[in-house]
Amino acid sequence: MTATIDTAPASAPFVEKTPLERYVAPAKPSLIGLSRAELGRALGTLGVPQAQRKMRVQQLWHWIYFRGLTDFEAMTSVSKELRAALSEHFTLDRPDVVAEQVSVDGTRKWLLRLPGETPGERPHEVECVYIPDTERGTLCVSSQVGCTLTCSFCHTGTQRLVRNLTAGEIVGQVMAARDRLGDWPGGVRPTDAVVPTGERCVTNVVMMGMGEPLYNFEAVRDALLIVADGDGIAISKRRITLSTSGVVPNIARAGAEIGCMLAVSLHAVRDDLRNELVPLNRKYPIAQLMEACRNYPGVSNAKRITFEYVMLKGVNDSIEDAKALVRLLKGIPAKINLIPFNPWPGSRYECSDWEQIEKFSQVVFDAGYASPVRTPRGRDILAACGQLKSASEKLSARERLALRAMTMTD
Ligand code: SAH
Ligand code: SF4
Repeated sequence: MTATIDTAPASAPFVEKTPLERYVAPAKPSLIGLSRAELGRALGTLGVPQAQRKMRVQQLWHWIYFRGLTDFEAMTSVSKELRAALSEHFTLDRPDVVAEQVSVDGTRKWLLRLPGETPGERPHEVECVYIPDTERGTLCVSSQVGCTLTCSFCHTGTQRLVRNLTAGEIVGQVMAARDRLGDWPGGVRPTDAVVPTGERCVTNVVMMGMGEPLYNFEAVRDALLIVADGDGIAISKRRITLSTSGVVPNIARAGAEIGCMLAVSLHAVRDDLRNELVPLNRKYPIAQLMEACRNYPGVSNAKRITFEYVMLKGVNDSIEDAKALVRLLKGIPAKINLIPFNPWPGSRYECSDWEQIEKFSQVVFDAGYASPVRTPRGRDILAACGQLKSASEKLSARERLALRAMTMTD
């Protein structure tokens, strides 16, 4: 692992941390996260003949992703022999939920435990956050333990350990959340805090937890395609948003291979400032990023790109910045989310004054963008964006526990 460059000057070369890639699957692997083709191959290893596999995969898919079963024994349409063989060789494990916190506003934050790099090593941890509203429930999902990037206002960027999550661990967050919320058919809803009034608790998914999803592209893609699959969890791609700090080459791939909604963490309208806030900008500057957004597959006025802009006092919050933002986005079907900065211990920024956020937002509003300020949620449980840093890191670095996630109320 290389050290973080959290305090590097803007002129420093762009440095990324290297993710640990030596993921060791448990001896008895979980089927969660396998594509239909992979599931078919897994059945093949149990001796299921080729001719039956498609039908068996369909049955399993229904039990796993529509019904949310955690036990093969309850799969009544599957033969007894096959159920026994499945239990002998596989599990339906999701990441372990080791802690749950519930905010007064209904936001829930789960600490999830994942296997470490080598057996016996301290496990890795990520956060997953649920933000309920009257009609929707948004789940903020992580793509990595830590992040290879080092945005200067983001707490996750200071975490040294980086491990890419597997597709199973990404889908597993959605499954674990639905387990906790009683969000499978016949499930019992929690009564300790607000959940949406509709049929489903989790209606939207945002890849806005820890990590840069476009630096773990294949796993994120495979996971989101499972989440969107109409025979299972069936969250429409229009209700799945992937947020990126601007990994330009993978933006087109996300559009073509996933087809979900895109959010871009812009945060600055000039390269000199963005180089400092989002060091990846030194590799993919604003002009390239805007070009990728203009060409995002499927982008239209009905399918706009969300531009996220964190409000940092005296840094990027002037009226000039607001005007330049509007000019920069001209011609791109866009939504703008102004995010009040969430401070964390040791952060060098302050959140803009409310008055300044209002003035900034007025410029954006006058340019035709509606209600752009995102209400911070779950502040009492440190579940707001950029506050998350996993407990394992805290233990190793003896740092104060600080946690984060998302405030996606759109
Ligand atoms: N890595 C991806 C997704 C995770 S971060 C990305 O950067 O887009 C999700 C969002 O939270 C991003 O827009 C990020 O810039 C923002 N964020 C990070 N730290 C924050 C903080 N301390 N306060 C407010 N927003 C923050
Ligand atoms: Fe990584 Fe996103 Fe945080 Fe930047 S803002 S360090 S890309 S998680």
